Amino acid sequence: MHSLWLETFDKKQNFPKLNSNISCDVCIIGAGIFGITCAYYLTKLGFKVVVLEKDEIASKTSGHTTAKITSQHGLFYNYLINSFGTNFARKYLEANENAIKNIKKIIDTEKISCDFRYQNNFVYTTSLEDLHSIKDEVSALKELDFPCEFVTNCGLPFKILGACMFKNQAEFHPLKYIYGIVDSIYKDCQIFTHTTVTDVRQSSHGYICYTNNGNVQASNVILACHYPFINIPGFYFLKMYQSSSYLIAVDTKENVFNGMYITAAEPTLSFRTAKIDGKDLLLIGGQSHKTGRYCNFESSYGVLEKVAKTYYPKCEILYRWNTRDCVSLDKIPYIGPYSHYTPNLYIGTGFQKWGMTSSNVAANIIVDMICKKQNPYASIYSSVRMKPIKNRNEVKNMVVQSTKSIMLDKLAPSNLKFDDIGLNTGGIVEINGSKVGIFKDSRGKIFAVKPVCTHLGCLLSWNDVDKTWDCPCHGSRFDFKGKNLYDPAIKNLETYNFE
Ligand SMILES: Cc1cc2nc3c(=O)[nH]c(=O)nc-3n(C[C@H](O)[C@H](O)[C@H](O)COP(=O)(O)OP(=O)(O)OC[C@H]3O[C@@H](n4cnc5c(N)ncnc54)[C@H](O)[C@@H]3O)c2cc1C
Repeated sequence: MHSLWLETFDKKQNFPKLNSNISCDVCIIGAGIFGITCAYYLTKLGFKVVVLEKDEIASKTSGHTTAKITSQHGLFYNYLINSFGTNFARKYLEANENAIKNIKKIIDTEKISCDFRYQNNFVYTTSLEDLHSIKDEVSALKELDFPCEFVTNCGLPFKILGACMFKNQAEFHPLKYIYGIVDSIYKDCQIFTHTTVTDVRQSSHGYICYTNNGNVQASNVILACHYPFINIPGFYFLKMYQSSSYLIAVDTKENVFNGMYITAAEPTLSFRTAKIDGKDLLLIGGQSHKTGRYCNFESSYGVLEKVAKTYYPKCEILYRWNTRDCVSLDKIPYIGPYSHYTPNLYIGTGFQKWGMTSSNVAANIIVDMICKKQNPYASIYSSVRMKPIKNRNEVKNMVVQSTKSIMLDKLAPSNLKFDDIGLNTGGIVEINGSKVGIFKDSRGKIFAVKPVCTHLGCLLSWNDVDKTWDCPCHGSRFDFKGKNLYDPAIKNLETYNFE
């Protein structure tokens, strides 16, 4: 299921695959919003830049986002003040407010037509229980001297009890923005698509990025690949997980409200509008869960569609899609050096579903590091910090989930029998003492895979909404034929012939 953005964007140019050995100052691995923003700033500064993308530009998380550009990352500032102090919270807010301005500056400088619109952003509640959290957030923001407002009326078509409102936030069409940037730099930098980096190794002149059809020698490397596929010595697989959410785009057949909205507490519901071909569509998002957890249509799109039909009974659902993002254990992105032991190898990840501004903050920090310039926000995002242990519950969940999927689930017998698997669905069965992942298509054709993640060996789970094999530990995903779709895995699953 492709997003509204991918479906409504006409890509004008294609990029080649890498097919020789080349060298550059900076090699960027991944062409989502973060990789392309890094490429933009570095190319404009005169660096020789190479971008290597496994699939197409912005075809993964950045092409499936909601694309609200805001420094209001849920109810976050009270949490930041309590966990890290006022100075930290102030810097986080300032960095993300600056990012909105930076994005607008790129759009104006490069004359990118990407449906950018300033909007008010609201975190709202309809429940008395969460009202105090909103009031606490407003007080926290006052402590940071930020002019947010507590309101009891907003544009939503139902009654709310209260909301925290940020003015001058924005929205855009992410594909138009990202390809607009690409248009402004592609003559001065080299972009290769359908080129998977399989390894990055230190060399006498920096690093060599290996692919199957040529290598890139680079003085600096930026891992802009979302969840890093290199496990050691960064150990991101111990300090980050992925969370999936669903979105629908709806023609309400009525006038639709303005503004951007998200609920104060879980389960989150998110709203924004987007003008597509002159028509205002309503986007509704939510139903988050850890990637790899059980989900079905009713518990994902079904819930969002019910919300749409409640307020717009004649509405038509035009697009459904989902994606996932990385979340660090303390909810702060990891931006900076990949590890203490890998000079000039950088990373930006853990944007926790707020990557429109965070990717810009990250690009600025890393570009400054490459230019050996101080960046005022680098310290709060340190990628080599040792603080995630603070969030003990999440650490415990991660260890329990990984142990379960890597060891216990693999040993436990499968309850499912081959004949239990119906048409157009899948599951894991045991054949000759080994676990086999089976998908039967609507005509009964069987696709069999080894249901073990090629990243770190976790037992995969069947996702019946997308007909994919998903990893409950780190969020890699594979189609029913075993083809790797999403990071951190880069290899396909082993397949079995099954007649
Ligand atoms: C449902 C949902 C809604 C969201 N809504 C918002 C929102 O409203 N506002 C907001 O600010 N943020 C939002 N986000 C978050 C935001 O979309 C992401 O943080 C952001 O898009 C991540 O960008 P990225 O460039 O890091 O990753 P990606 O866009 O995933 O780009 C990474 C790229 O690296 C490539 N890659 C991976 N491995 C390799 C390899 N080995 N070799 C070469 N290439 C590789 C991938 O193919 C991919 O194209 C949302 C996230 C979700 C899940």
